[in-house]
Amino acid sequence: MKMQLKGDYFDGRFVNPNLSQANEKILKRSPGDLSHVLWEAGIFYDHIEGVIQSAQKGFDVWRKLSFEERIGYLKKYQEIVRAKKDEIAMALALEVGKPLWEAKTEAAALDSKVSVTITDSYERIKQKTIKDVMPKIDGHIIQKPLGPSFVIGPFNFPCHLANGQILSALLAGNSIIFKPSEKTIFSAQLMIECFHEAGLPTGVINFINGTGYTAGKMTSDKRIKGIFFTGSRNVGLKILENTHQDLNKLVALELGGKNSTIIHHDTNISHALPELLRACFLTTGQRCTSTSMILIHKKIEQEFINQFKAVTERIRVAHPTSQPDPFMGPLIDEQAQKMYFDFCEFGKQEGAEEIVTPRKLDVGYEGYYVSPSIHYAKNPNLNGKFIQEEIFGPNCFFVPYEDIEEAIKIANCTPYGLAASVFTRSEDIYKLCLRDIDSGLINLNRSTVGATARLPFGGLKNSGNHRPAAVSMIDHCVGTVASLETLDDTSSKMSDVVGLKE
Ligand code: NAD
Repeated sequence: MKMQLKGDYFDGRFVNPNLSQANEKILKRSPGDLSHVLWEAGIFYDHIEGVIQSAQKGFDVWRKLSFEERIGYLKKYQEIVRAKKDEIAMALALEVGKPLWEAKTEAAALDSKVSVTITDSYERIKQKTIKDVMPKIDGHIIQKPLGPSFVIGPFNFPCHLANGQILSALLAGNSIIFKPSEKTIFSAQLMIECFHEAGLPTGVINFINGTGYTAGKMTSDKRIKGIFFTGSRNVGLKILENTHQDLNKLVALELGGKNSTIIHHDTNISHALPELLRACFLTTGQRCTSTSMILIHKKIEQEFINQFKAVTERIRVAHPTSQPDPFMGPLIDEQAQKMYFDFCEFGKQEGAEEIVTPRKLDVGYEGYYVSPSIHYAKNPNLNGKFIQEEIFGPNCFFVPYEDIEEAIKIANCTPYGLAASVFTRSEDIYKLCLRDIDSGLINLNRSTVGATARLPFGGLKNSGNHRPAAVSMIDHCVGTVASLETLDDTSSKMSDVVGLKE
């Protein structure tokens, strides 16, 4: 596949000056085959101004359209993105390193998300009327768009996550500037091409490439009224620092996780095993919802861990497009690979035993291939780095427990609160978990990965501040206006005003 970068997109066209004039250059190799150079991108700081002005002009037009007109454009986009899904999937596989079968599920979600946005999300921002909120007066709740909005994406789902945010923000009447991860520019560009082909009015969709410098300039600009960020907690905190003086800007953050699964002694092990295997290792552990900590009841720990270890050792790691289908491809880059091994080392230093050792793998291509790993921590150091921080690699660790309160306490010990799951046949145990685990998603007999677009998605604690994902995204794309209305313009009388002199 040839990956031709077209540059930044504003005023309705791609602008791609000569690379020699770029302020920064990024050379991208496929993480699954380092001999495969995918593209070289130029970052142009002087596009920042053009992109913001374009989004302002786009907003002026777009906010005046009716919902029906905006939905019409989204449906056109849906047809185009559906037709391009194979191309997008291949780009995702080569840029991110996720297996092609998995990349196809991401590409297919772009299309289905349009339908969910139009049905489920739209309901949340439709004008609502409350009859007779006061005598003879109706109350109205009206949702107005924020203005030009900046969507910043992570590398692990370069299209799906931004697509969800962009669609909701567009439906609500905002114009968009999208900055993808600098690691996944081409997949993101394919999505922007679909919006271009859908013929949205000029300036409604804009696209800028860049790293921290560009993102920092954009987030601090007062003309940007909404920031929708998905990425790491550290970058999320930088955005808050950069924007906290500007109360005219909505900053919604979807951040990392350190997710727990509780396996109670009454679990059906044959159901829990495949759920957990996917939760820990899909996308090479690079999902915000990946399970990291497994709290295992002491009664079944030996049996469960032995079986989990056996299936983990069967995981096929290979080039993302190879056949038969691999379970996992490589990690995204050298830094991620180093972090993975460093974390496994912290685990050992902090007292965890290595049950399955992480290794670099030779799969016939030079790339960032690693094997999945498992630790066991009988008395874990709850304040240590291994338990407190997100690994973002294919590692999980077991911690044994005897009573459920103890398990919940350990699950709550991290600064994050994104996803948790509980495997049990006991409704009482689940109810306790639902009440006491500090997490934005809590599943019963379903793993931490694989959320639905029809429910809210987002974390508590350090996993984010609002919920700019799934159906709840649209709630943050609007400012709410309350209006009291009456057609009776004869009922107010001066004689009713108290305190006037005769
Ligand atoms: P990252 O935080 O390193 O980068 C995310 C984006 O932020 C990139 O586009 C990057 O260019 C940009 N960025 C860098 N510096 C910036 C700055 N100063 N201001 C604004 N933006 C800046 O994250 P990543 O490595 O691409 O993705 C992995 C992280 O994302 C993990 O922590 C993962 O848990 C999280 N994530 C969360 C969710 C969720 O829904 N909660 C989903 C996917 C990923």
